[in-house]
Amino acid sequence: MAIVSSRLDRINASQTLSVAARTAELRRAGHDVINLGLGELELPIPMHVREAAARSSMQGSGASTPVPGTAALRHAIVEKLQRDQDLDYADEEIIVGTGSKQVIFNAMMATLEPGNEVIIPAPYWVSYPDIVTMAGGKAVTVHTTFQQGFKLEAGALEKAITKNTKWLVLNSPNNPSGAVYTREEIRQIGAVLARHPHVLVLSDEIYEHFVYDDAGPGSLAAQLPELKARTLLVNGVSKSHAMIGWRVGYGAGPRELVAAMSKVQSQVTSGTCTVAQEAAVEALLGPQQSVAEVVGAIATRRRVALEEIVRVPGLRCAPADGAFYLFADCSDLIGKLTPDGATLRTDGDVADYLLSGAGVAVVPGAAFGTSPYLRIAYVCDEARLRSAMGRMERALSALR
Ligand code: PLP
Repeated sequence: MAIVSSRLDRINASQTLSVAARTAELRRAGHDVINLGLGELELPIPMHVREAAARSSMQGSGASTPVPGTAALRHAIVEKLQRDQDLDYADEEIIVGTGSKQVIFNAMMATLEPGNEVIIPAPYWVSYPDIVTMAGGKAVTVHTTFQQGFKLEAGALEKAITKNTKWLVLNSPNNPSGAVYTREEIRQIGAVLARHPHVLVLSDEIYEHFVYDDAGPGSLAAQLPELKARTLLVNGVSKSHAMIGWRVGYGAGPRELVAAMSKVQSQVTSGTCTVAQEAAVEALLGPQQSVAEVVGAIATRRRVALEEIVRVPGLRCAPADGAFYLFADCSDLIGKLTPDGATLRTDGDVADYLLSGAGVAVVPGAAFGTSPYLRIAYVCDEARLRSAMGRMERALSALR
């Protein structure tokens, strides 16, 4: 008797989470591994948010919350979207999930029929294609290039749209490439979408605040208000407030879609953790200075990463205007021999070599649908970051 269903043959376990698991394993075995793999900020949650969580837990209530989120948090999200994006939503157009990952899962489960296509520009966040597959849809990857700054061009989008297209997934600032779409690029994409009214738009804005040097707007949905009736804006507090483990994300979209997503969630997790929701209200409506502090700390790490990476042989980086990743082309390293005589054939081999040979965890581009690349998350403190770059420089210089 087969225990596991064949559905699972079609999806992959999250490769970023498996790099994290291997990093943790090596650390438990006593190895000093610097983690540039997982996109988890090594920063504390802002104090005012922690205090709100403490107050909430001290009330002692273990009661459940409404499936799509507490009234207070849904309303806080409405206020946030009005304040920052100049977009008007009603409370019923908001859903809170256990992380924005669940919000995306809800959306795909609620909308996809077999044969429906979801256009996903690559490189992409690891989970999009697998969520689409799990929900019975077909992920249609559109590859972008280093030369295009890893951004979907209007012409390529036009070609990819068919009568079966249900969604276009956009993510700017982007994980893993760091790309940020300019206003003009968004306008061109909007013009294509205007010609195809059957296509829904999922705008994943989880890195909204992490834009450097004014590269472009943090919110794509705010630039396309004419598409609001068919856009699902996705965001959360995982990145802006370093709260990834507290699992609060949200979606804002048409009432009918949000109600359907809530129906899915009602049979999966119900309402998100009460304490985390109360903390999220404070995160969104409390002093916003804490967001600027998180972003400021990361901007410094980005500067260090960009300064140091030029010394690492065999890697070439795109500008990385946003999020907290460098996406480095490692094609010059493919075919080289390690000191042990092994040939590096793929970006996965390069990442393995860096983990075992240099004690630095990075994620191979294959995880994001684009090889041969390495995603380097510059999330740790400056000293560790410099040390990681030094280790990579030594390990890659030793290749023949
Ligand atoms: N979207 C993107 C592009 C991400 O990089 C991540 C996490 O790394 C998520 C969504 C999910 O975030 P969460 O579920 O913590 O809100």
